[in-house]
Amino acid sequence: MNRLILLAITLTIASAAHSQQPPADNSWTKVYRASATRINDLVHTKLDVRPDYSNSHLYGKAWITLQPHFYATDSLNLDAKGMEIKKVAMINGTKEQQLKYDYNDFNLRINLGRNFKAGEKYTVYVEYTAKPDEFEEKYQRNQLLGIKGLYFINPKGEEKDKPTQIWTQGETESNSAWFPTIDATNQRCTQEITITVPEKYVTLSNGKLVSQKKNSDKTRSDYWKMELPHAPYLFFMGIGDYTVVKDSWKGKEVNYYVEPEYGAVAKKIFGNTPEMMTFFSKITGVDFPWVKYSQITGRDYVAGAMENTTATIHQNFAQQDARELIDGNSWEGTIAHELFHQWFGDYVTTESWSNLTLNESFADYSQTLWSEYKQGKDAGDAENYQGLQGYLRSHSEDKNLVRFYYQDREEMFDAVSYQKGGRILHMLRNLVGDSAFFRSLNVYLNTNKFKSAEAHQLRLAFEEVTGRDLNWFFNQWYFSNGNPEAEI
Ligand SMILES: [Zn+2]
Repeated sequence: MNRLILLAITLTIASAAHSQQPPADNSWTKVYRASATRINDLVHTKLDVRPDYSNSHLYGKAWITLQPHFYATDSLNLDAKGMEIKKVAMINGTKEQQLKYDYNDFNLRINLGRNFKAGEKYTVYVEYTAKPDEFEEKYQRNQLLGIKGLYFINPKGEEKDKPTQIWTQGETESNSAWFPTIDATNQRCTQEITITVPEKYVTLSNGKLVSQKKNSDKTRSDYWKMELPHAPYLFFMGIGDYTVVKDSWKGKEVNYYVEPEYGAVAKKIFGNTPEMMTFFSKITGVDFPWVKYSQITGRDYVAGAMENTTATIHQNFAQQDARELIDGNSWEGTIAHELFHQWFGDYVTTESWSNLTLNESFADYSQTLWSEYKQGKDAGDAENYQGLQGYLRSHSEDKNLVRFYYQDREEMFDAVSYQKGGRILHMLRNLVGDSAFFRSLNVYLNTNKFKSAEAHQLRLAFEEVTGRDLNWFFNQWYFSNGNPEAEI
């Protein structure tokens, strides 16, 4: 994710809070943030959803296939936020068997009716209505980022000059506000989704658009299929009136979804994407791993951009007109950032928010790498310098890069996980040399593909390639805090 705007808001809130001197609650400093325990593992998620624009609700049906991770279990705990649950059943062939459950606005605890053994797959069916606005109103409190996951923008068309759109934002744990899942970064599954919308709108989701069916009520059902597994926070759905500008990379679709008036300039904004895909594939030694790559813009989007697998969303400020683009594309760095996440974040995913830098340091550093490649070493150095200054200005000397104690997981999206992490990668590159650095990234990606990872896995990849013990480096820079201070 790229949180340009969020960071600005956070700083404002932080300085306001500082001036009021509220009593400090430090109880969080004793709460170790462990990775989510895996009792059941997601295997596949099949969704059938239909938005209700008049109420800003989503009618959903979910078929969730799971299996116990190791120990036998007779229960399943799904994250399902702010929903009205209508039915929960076990699917046995063509038959449904009703299951007992408890629900408390956040968790759906299901009694599976019998023990399931490790590796024994089962499919649970949940029929529900998601009510994101009601959920957020009831529970938002002081969260830094919206928690409702599903956003209806101008749903009744009452605001002039604003398009009607729907988009979702999963990171950190908000996709469970529009479909039931195990909303943890160390889960992943394949996915199918059928989205039924008014026929005037286009849809975007993860994976491939397999079919479109016109219905008799002036709606259309689009069926998207994602055949490679990814984490639940990377699921995405976007709906609206967009012009889809088509591009390609090695025979794969590369699409830019923009508001119609930006159709003519879409390639001036996003048109370097295929070249970036070639560049990132080359330096990692891993070809862009997914079936397609689309980018879409979202009105009133809550962050800068988000790397949903094969379906990145950008803040609508990405849309610059021809006159603005004369001065250069201000969004180029963000396009690189989200694209590199398709490897670092989506293909290999951080095991927990504590290890977030495994996603964000690489995305941050991609902006240096792309500038260096596209505009030369000075441009890369300038990008690097700006990142360093961003970290130093944040006064985060007391924060470890990998952090097991934090007050709110949203705080992990800071100048340490991003800018400092990017500079640590740059230092590591200088330490081991270019060819060892990129070879190590290749080993890290290949060893951990379609899995979650923690910082030690990165260390092990570098140790395997270089033949050197790097515990000292990781202990100092990943598991400790601070930075060198020079007095001249
Ligand atoms: Zn990011």
